[in-house]
Amino acid sequence: MTSRLSPYQAFIALGSSIGSLLEKKLMIEGAIRLLQSVGQVRYTSAFYLNYPVGGVAENRFLNGALVLATALKPHQLLCELLNFEAKLGRVRQVPNEDRLIDLDILFVLHQSKTELKPLQIKTEHLIVPHGKLTERAFMWWPFIEVLAPLSTITPLGHEAQLMLDQLTQEAGAHALADQDCWYQKVVRVSHG
Ligand code: AMP
Repeated sequence: MTSRLSPYQAFIALGSSIGSLLEKKLMIEGAIRLLQSVGQVRYTSAFYLNYPVGGVAENRFLNGALVLATALKPHQLLCELLNFEAKLGRVRQVPNEDRLIDLDILFVLHQSKTELKPLQIKTEHLIVPHGKLTERAFMWWPFIEVLAPLSTITPLGHEAQLMLDQLTQEAGAHALADQDCWYQKVVRVSHG
C-alpha cells in the first residue's frame, strides 16, 4: 500500500559475499532491519547464492531484493544506503570486490494523484532504473519476484507498464530468460 506519508516504492537489491552462509544471512537481516528505520519493507524475494561476476570478487554472493515503501526521495535513500553499508562494516577499496554488504536501488515507483509512476534518474551519483538491472540475473529475477505481488495489489500506471515492458525486452536481449544462473536457492531471509 502506498500512502501520502510513504509515496515511494523503492526496489532495493541486497548482496553479501564475505563470511559463511550464516554470516551472509545475518548481514542481510541486519541490512533489512536498518532499512525498516527509513520505511516499511513490503515484499522480500527469496535469497540466492550466486557465483561472482565482474572478475574481481571470488566468493559466492547471497543476493535478493525487496520493496521498501518510503518517504525518502531517491537521492536521500541512496545516502541512507551508503550509511547503512558503512554501519554494517563495508569498506570500499576496489570496485566489484567481495563485500560484506551491497545495497543498490534497482527501480523506484512514485504514487502520483492517480497512479504509480516510474522514476527515471540519471545523475553523477544515481542512475535509476539501475544500469545493470537487465544485465544481471541476480538483480533481475529477485526484482521480478517482488514486482509480482506489488503489481497485483497496487495497479501500475501506463507509464510504469511501458517502462517494465522495455526492461523486460532488454533482459530478454541479455538472455536472462535462458540463464540458469543460480548456484543454490536459499531459504527465505526473515524480515519481521
Ligand atoms: P557499489 O556499491 O560499488 O555498487 O556502487 C555504489 C555507487 O554507485 C554509489 O556511490 C552511487 O553513487 C552509485 N550508483 C549509481 N546508481 C546507483 C543505484 N541505482 N543504486 C546504488 N548506487 C548507485
